[in-house]
Amino acid sequence: MHVIASIPDLRTVRKRLSGRVGVVLTMGALHRGHLELIRAARADNDAVLVSIFVNPLQFGAHEDLARYPRDLQRDLDLLAATDVDVVFTPTPEVMYPPGFDTLVTVDTVAQGLEGEARPGHFQGVATVVAKLFNLTQPTISYFGQKDAQQVVVIRRMVRDLNFDLEIAVIPTVREPDGLALSSRNVYLDAAQRRAAACLYRGLQAAAHRYAEGERHPEALRTAVRTEIEAEPLAQLEYVAVNDPRTLIGQHAISDQPLLLSLAVRFGTTRLLDNCLLPVDLNTRAGLTATLGAV
Ligand code: AMP
Repeated sequence: MHVIASIPDLRTVRKRLSGRVGVVLTMGALHRGHLELIRAARADNDAVLVSIFVNPLQFGAHEDLARYPRDLQRDLDLLAATDVDVVFTPTPEVMYPPGFDTLVTVDTVAQGLEGEARPGHFQGVATVVAKLFNLTQPTISYFGQKDAQQVVVIRRMVRDLNFDLEIAVIPTVREPDGLALSSRNVYLDAAQRRAAACLYRGLQAAAHRYAEGERHPEALRTAVRTEIEAEPLAQLEYVAVNDPRTLIGQHAISDQPLLLSLAVRFGTTRLLDNCLLPVDLNTRAGLTATLGAV
């Protein structure tokens, strides 16, 4: 496994890779969710490249950049055990040298949901992902459903800026109680961790209503809200129903697929989750055909 921190070294090693190259972009603190993306990349490609970079550009001034969990040696040990060919671990100075002055803005699809809660976040994401795509030249790059709006933003950027690569979307990997794996789950204390299962319970309650025939977005949102509001440690930030292709908010009954997403605070920790309705779309094939596919 090549572990590379400089751009010239990365370009040299990338040129030597032949065939299909699967790329997984991460911020480290690796968990089973990341490993599932890597497993998919391994199965589809001749070589696998993983990046680990906590991107300062996508954190707001009052967010958790300084305390975001970092343990490079642990991550490298995990990757060495999973048959990864190249790990790119740049520093912020390598990615953003003095004079760095270019930002990538994806417009409409980056405005609502997380874009509204975290101004500038998706500009930071799009900028670093564009750089990492140029540096790593993926055949396919793998993204997690958990960050559904990120998938939509990146797919729009790929299409609009003519990146010559495919995006695959991998279903959310969960703990036994349904909590989506996230590097930020370590911020939760024991009581908050128990309470955090309410996000998945909310999605399931809405999915249950949908299976019974409920199609009204407001009724589906109410089903989620009821579960979250029953949990005293949880503060619901938003629950939204959107068109999974365009992220346009849905307010009327329709039989088109829906993206149901929510953000919930436990103290200072923000957790996200989402699902597609109908629920049989929450597979790699269903997600890849639906989420951000325009
Ligand atoms: P991060 O390190 O949080 O930036 O995530 C790197 C990639 O892993 C992103 O594409 C995420 O959507 C994906 N990811 C994070 N958590 C999960 C999860 N629980 N299941 C599947 N993919 C995930």
